[in-house]
Amino acid sequence: MKKHIRHIAVAFSLVIVMLSQSVSAAVQETDGGSAGAGTRWEYCAGILTLSGTGAVRSYGSKTDVPWYKYAGEIESIIVGEGIYSIGNYALSGITSLTGIVLPESLENIGICAFSGCSSLERINIPKKVASIKNYAFYKCESLVSVVFEADELPDISASAFSGVATRFTVGERDYWINLSGACGTKAKWSLNDGILSITGSGAIKSYSSRNDVPWHEYAGEIETVEIGGNITGIGNYAFADLKNVNDIALPEGLKTIGTCAFSGCTGLKEITIPAALTKLNIYAFYNCSSLNRVVFKGEAPDIATTAFRGATVKLEHPCSQQWEEISAAVFDGKVTFEDNGEHIDSSSLFYVGKTEPTCRQCGEAEHWECSVCGRFFSDAEGETEISEDELIIQKTEHVFKTGWSEDSAQHWHECINCGAKTDVSSHVYSSNSDNSCNECGHIRGIDLPIIIF
Ligand SMILES: [Zn+2]
Ligand SMILES: [Zn+2]
Ligand SMILES: [Zn+2]
Repeated sequence: MKKHIRHIAVAFSLVIVMLSQSVSAAVQETDGGSAGAGTRWEYCAGILTLSGTGAVRSYGSKTDVPWYKYAGEIESIIVGEGIYSIGNYALSGITSLTGIVLPESLENIGICAFSGCSSLERINIPKKVASIKNYAFYKCESLVSVVFEADELPDISASAFSGVATRFTVGERDYWINLSGACGTKAKWSLNDGILSITGSGAIKSYSSRNDVPWHEYAGEIETVEIGGNITGIGNYAFADLKNVNDIALPEGLKTIGTCAFSGCTGLKEITIPAALTKLNIYAFYNCSSLNRVVFKGEAPDIATTAFRGATVKLEHPCSQQWEEISAAVFDGKVTFEDNGEHIDSSSLFYVGKTEPTCRQCGEAEHWECSVCGRFFSDAEGETEISEDELIIQKTEHVFKTGWSEDSAQHWHECINCGAKTDVSSHVYSSNSDNSCNECGHIRGIDLPIIIF
């Protein structure tokens, strides 16, 4: 009997469950109406359907949208083929939405169309979409993937993905936009479309390994590094393994480059080191196998001997005693030094006054000469180099006496300064019996006949 009672109770409760289900089904009535010219909306049991041919109209704010009252309950949205525009605010603030399939017919995504869809994780943008308007995906903070089905990006407003760190897939490319964070007390980083930007001021912090660097996991997609003008230090490992970066401009106020800061940047070919730099730490450019030219703009910093290990590199530098004293021999790897003729301070330059030329020897123009490299300059700052040939002032003209000089055979005019001769000529006599030169008046001796016995 007890068994029977239990069976009856179970059957009774089943009836109640069935009854309550049919009651709730009755409550879930379909709601809907016009969504624009030629388009309709319909909501039923967590599903919003937009259908028809035309645009889902633009609204002035999300609260003007008729289906917004279901925003927290909408689990999926079906946008039918034939819809070519999702108007302003149309799907804004639907916080329960995690994914959506957009129709091939779609061409436009309006202002704030998906803004505040905070659970939306991925979306494919169909081929025909030509424009994505302002703030279209603003505050879609869960969005991790946007796949563009066309090979090129549509016209995307700069604010369309404002503040949303997400991954774009366009054709063969796959890259992050709007990734950012702090990388020092006052320094920030952001990664956008292959460009790593460091902004703010002070030093980029030192990391204890390359894996601790916040952008290291995206190293392969970084093609450009932009460092703000107020950054003064590059910490340990900061730019390690950025293999696709070919050149990088360092800010003028940069003072230190940390351990392994650029290690493994195998695409880096040249770099210019600003004059402010005082310290280049160990392994700073370790295994930068393409690096062949480093141009230092200032006085020699403290360069660790392992700084360029693994590279065959020429270090070009200004002329100074300090640079002169750095010996290539102490460096690891194939490091050579080349004085590039720039003179950043004039302390090694000494003045040489003018030497007047004479008819005997050339003179020399006034100039400045460097005691370190031996180069000549026409100015005290060492800015305009001149060659040794350019220093020469040619000899002056001879000053010839007006009267003749003579010997027994010839006459000539002679320079009063150096004795150089001009107009050299044999004496000229009118006949054998004329003993006086017609030109200079030289009197020749009377030769006595030689008597042969
Ligand atoms: Zn010099
Ligand atoms: Zn002379
Ligand atoms: Zn003569």
